[in-house]
Amino acid sequence: MLEIDVLTLFPALCEGSFTASMMKRAQEAGLAAVRVHNLRDWARDKHRTTDDVPYGGGQGMVMKPEPIFEAVDSLRREGTRVVLLSPQGRVFRQAVAEEMAACGHLIFICGHYEGIDARVGDFLADDEISIGDYVLTNGAIAAAVVVDAVVRLVPGVLGHPQSAAQDTFSATHDGLLEGPQYTRPAIYRSHEVPPILLSGNHAEILRWRQEQGRDRTRQRRPDLLPEVSR
Ligand code: SAM
Repeated sequence: MLEIDVLTLFPALCEGSFTASMMKRAQEAGLAAVRVHNLRDWARDKHRTTDDVPYGGGQGMVMKPEPIFEAVDSLRREGTRVVLLSPQGRVFRQAVAEEMAACGHLIFICGHYEGIDARVGDFLADDEISIGDYVLTNGAIAAAVVVDAVVRLVPGVLGHPQSAAQDTFSATHDGLLEGPQYTRPAIYRSHEVPPILLSGNHAEILRWRQEQGRDRTRQRRPDLLPEVSR
């Protein structure tokens, strides 16, 4: 079972995505447990303050270190990986999702306002992750994305064990894009499904799919191809 704790000032921003569809099923099947905590529960004063003005001046508020350090201290155990969500982290990719899915326990720290006191990234988090080169208002939105990508890789979560292996970016696909998928009807508005898919020749279909995946990658994401075959 993969256990995940999400620390945020706005639980409602991500809770919904953990209580429906695959995330819900994964938890009901005992394959994952996702708990969302309000960081204010670790605030020390009667106003439950979690942010303060930046040292040195400047705009906005910065999240204080104490509630975050204390929340992590109370939740972490041997082997826990603590991940800070930040636009300045290493970029989240399928390979990172695969690494995380192999962990037993993950804690995600979600920022808000101007960001988080730098000591959290420097001395508490094991990893700093960005979901892309843009700035969100809140790390809980990024946590929903990361948790979804990680939990679906836990063995047993997807209906068919091969599903994740056939996905775009998966290692078994050499990190390339998946080819096109079709379903019935075979002809729709005069657009036909490629005849090879109706042939019943599984070896040929597999070869066709691999070629299509490579062609799509060349057209859409040549950066994913090894330099020699671009
Ligand atoms: N002032 C910060 C900076 O320029 O790096 C941005 C803070 S952002 C408005 C507030 C929070 O949203 C961050 O602390 C982080 O948790 C989250 N966040 C924003 N963009 C993100 C991204 N691309 N990936 C992951 N988390 C992000």
